[in-house]
Amino acid sequence: MSMAEKTLTPKLIKKLWAAFILLVLLMGASYILITNYFATKHNQETTQRLNADVANHVIAEKFQNDSPFLEDGSVNKELFGDLMHDMMAVNQGIEVYLLNDVGEILYSVVLDHDAGAPTKSVSLAPIKTFIDAKGKEFVLGDDPINLNTQKIFSAAPYSVDGRNGYVYIVLAGKKFQEVSETLMGQYFAKLGTGATVLAMLFTALLGLLAIWFLTKNLRLITSTVRKFQEGDLDARIENPNKSDIAIFANSFNEMADTIVDNMDKMKSVDLLRRELIANVSHDLRTPLAILKGYIETLQMKSDTLTASEKEEYLQITHDNVDRLSKLINQLFEYSKLEAEQVVPVKEPFSITELSYDLIAKFNVLAAKKDISLQLQNPKENCMVFADVSLVERALQNLIENAIKYTETNGTVTLSLEKKGKNIEINITDTGTGIPVNEQPFIFDRYKQVDKSPKKQGSGLGLAIVKKIMELHDTTITVLSKPKEGSSFIFNLPSYQQA
Ligand code: ADP
Repeated sequence: MSMAEKTLTPKLIKKLWAAFILLVLLMGASYILITNYFATKHNQETTQRLNADVANHVIAEKFQNDSPFLEDGSVNKELFGDLMHDMMAVNQGIEVYLLNDVGEILYSVVLDHDAGAPTKSVSLAPIKTFIDAKGKEFVLGDDPINLNTQKIFSAAPYSVDGRNGYVYIVLAGKKFQEVSETLMGQYFAKLGTGATVLAMLFTALLGLLAIWFLTKNLRLITSTVRKFQEGDLDARIENPNKSDIAIFANSFNEMADTIVDNMDKMKSVDLLRRELIANVSHDLRTPLAILKGYIETLQMKSDTLTASEKEEYLQITHDNVDRLSKLINQLFEYSKLEAEQVVPVKEPFSITELSYDLIAKFNVLAAKKDISLQLQNPKENCMVFADVSLVERALQNLIENAIKYTETNGTVTLSLEKKGKNIEINITDTGTGIPVNEQPFIFDRYKQVDKSPKKQGSGLGLAIVKKIMELHDTTITVLSKPKEGSSFIFNLPSYQQA
């Protein structure tokens, strides 16, 4: 057994498993990523909505009594120091910026000292959108500490001492983000990821089981094919139509049947061939032995034999030589047909004319046995499309048999009849008939029903007829009753003249 066969099923199952596990992993990963994304977004949106008014509050509370600017126009750092103090108590995650009306940062309160220096200005567009929507819209604004990122914020406009600008408060400042990320990380690492991995494991297990179950049929088929290959010719896939791969199962069963059929056929062909050889050598030996005997007698007793005795012996030798040459001819003819060396040359010809010729030819033989040989045919000429010499050979064998197996005063009739697109040819005799149980075998090579020597047939006549029929894609039927007679019937395609 080759490696490929050995591993057929496991290979396929392994591939299915791999594909399935990959899918589960992909699904799990995308689930975690999507949940993470939406959780973060939800978190940000909630925080922004809750703290939408923070900037307004700062302005209302801090800028009412004290101006954010000193008289020299610089920022009131004391005020912002206060603000920082308040913020530390309330929320360490926020960063407060004082912007002028073009978005330049005038002052910043960043609690995280590692945060780094803020840039000089931020984009005003998101701030304006936020203020216009009154904090009801989810907007991300520039992070002054890192312009590459966008943050949630609260903002409100101020107008003090003729100076306009905005208080810009980044809600998820660096600190907030750190805490949020740690929490999120913990949440997902501990719970989310854990649960997802568990679910994935469970799904994978179920999936693997399902694949194992679904490929049960495939494994069954593989093991049956293997059994067959190892020589168990009876191995077939049970209930092939119930299999998930019914086409394959059925095809295998049909293929196995065909193989077994062909093997049986080959065995029987082989058997028949051996039988043929055995019979042929027997049939050749008998006339040869007779010949030898008579020739020896003629040689040794030449002086004592009368002229008529000599004449008789010579006639017997002559008959046996005839018999031998006929047998050899038939064998040669049959073996050529058997080896498929004969290619029929089909052409239109008149079967009516051929029948007349054959009747004329066999009339002498029939007359010797007082048998009436008749032709029954339609008035019009019947044309067929076939190989004329092969058809003639078949008809000769059939008429010869009919005469041979019919007693004196019997009748042999050759009849032609139009049947649709065919001409039916029928050779009927009033002879001995063929026992029903023998009828299926008479066309087989070398099966003579009556093995008595008086018959002196080769047993090849009908086998030759059968081969000729095969070459014309037609069949021959025998209808026969013992003691009443036999009919041999076959059809040839009639030729319609254009
Ligand atoms: P054979 O040379 O013995 O006639 P065939 O192949 O021509 O061989 O015929 C096979 C056997 O079929 C014959 O031996 C005979 O028993 C039987 N058979 C053939 N034709 C007839 C027939 N017209 N009437 C009775 N038996 C026949």
